Amino acid sequence: MSETRISIPGWAERMADRLGEGPHVVVTGISPSGNIHNLREVLVAEAVANALKERGAGVRFIFHADTIDPLRKIAPGIPESFEKYMGRSLSHIPDPEGCHASYAEHFLSPFEEALEEMEMDIEVLRSHEIYESGVYTDVTCEAIEHTDELRKIMQEVTGRKMPEGWSPYLPRASSGDLTGNRVLEHLPEESKVIFVDRDGNEGVADYSKGEGKLGWRTELAARWKALGVTFEPFGKDHTSRGGSTDTADRMSREVFHYPVPGRYEYEWISIKGKGPMSSSKGVVLLPKDLLKIMPPGALRKMMLGRDPARALDLDLEGGFPRFMDEYRAEVGEEYVPFTHLVTVAQTVGGDTEAAAQMLRRGGYEKAAADQGKLARDLSYALNWAKEWAPESLRFRILSEEEAKEAAQGLSADQRRYLAAVSGKLKAGMDGDEVQNLLYSTAGECGLKPKKAFAALYSVLLGKKSGPKAGPFVAGLPTEVVRQRLSV
Ligand SMILES: [Zn+2]
Repeated sequence: MSETRISIPGWAERMADRLGEGPHVVVTGISPSGNIHNLREVLVAEAVANALKERGAGVRFIFHADTIDPLRKIAPGIPESFEKYMGRSLSHIPDPEGCHASYAEHFLSPFEEALEEMEMDIEVLRSHEIYESGVYTDVTCEAIEHTDELRKIMQEVTGRKMPEGWSPYLPRASSGDLTGNRVLEHLPEESKVIFVDRDGNEGVADYSKGEGKLGWRTELAARWKALGVTFEPFGKDHTSRGGSTDTADRMSREVFHYPVPGRYEYEWISIKGKGPMSSSKGVVLLPKDLLKIMPPGALRKMMLGRDPARALDLDLEGGFPRFMDEYRAEVGEEYVPFTHLVTVAQTVGGDTEAAAQMLRRGGYEKAAADQGKLARDLSYALNWAKEWAPESLRFRILSEEEAKEAAQGLSADQRRYLAAVSGKLKAGMDGDEVQNLLYSTAGECGLKPKKAFAALYSVLLGKKSGPKAGPFVAGLPTEVVRQRLSV
């Protein structure tokens, strides 16, 4: 599926200018501790990576999945029995639903699939594999050797006193627990630490084999150095004063002697009426679900917004059709209002041939030409209608039986009107012709247009109102309309 590329936004161009020639390593890191919704971070990184590539720089674009991170909070929907896995690596915990190799994979896989569907040119690294393959061995050794300096930075930046025996390294106990263990001795020649677990048992962890990990703030700085990172976007939770970037910046400069990568601070996305997206609160929109109602290009545009440094309130309900119309105009697609596609999709379901006919009759010949594209557009429209559309845009055509029942509630004048319309309606009339017919017949029957149209919508949709009647009725098979109107 080839899609028109949206040009690189100005903020990404400016960032690329500041980052210079390269080569560059662009990283975005997310913990798969629950449903992954943070597409904005990945898209910010992608836009900057694209801007760098356009300048001819060599770019490695990495999605750093924090699979080795310990479980700290039970995500909504996870059984309480998972409390027993607290402190264990997400990669070492079973899948709560049993469908993937681990807890981490259960949340990472759908996100990775969405990135693939978006044809994103990104390398997905799992942090437990990076540790196991030894990529972090040198920086881990360096960190443990500089425990005192790192501890001092932690205390100065956070204003909190680090506990006795604090270490930048978290060895894994035989129970699998990464927390509550205390490093006793470093054996740099062997890449090992000797530690004591919370029950007082001594153990040995080989950090060249992933038998533990660096604490989060130290790891951030350490991985910049180990992976040669030159750019990483952060959400405002990390960049607040005394937060993880404040700590990592100092660690990077003062301990690892590595320049702090370029940074872009993005703002949160909220869902209209639900508040900021948060996997721990269960307020999430999964990229996979969003791709059911719009193409990848539209999803990129929606998530980035005009400027990702600004907060965004997503309106997937009433405001969505307008967003889609703007997107389609931007990428130069044949114009059909999204609301019309929603009408067509709800009328014909997945029948693209019938949809094409309806579009042609509505005056959208060009949009009906590409059946493959039409099929996709119909599925976006139908999925949106089911999940998000306001009640006023949702409908289905009543069966003959239902139409008869609906007609019981109409006045004699209204029924006369419907019969008259039915007699005059001819196959092949276009939307305007039908619209005129509906009005003129109302006049002839001495019926106010409002009452006339209400009668029409009642027997077709079981509602008092609906999509613009002329094009809608013109798009339906004439015999279906006649049947419903002959009551
Ligand atoms: Zn699973």
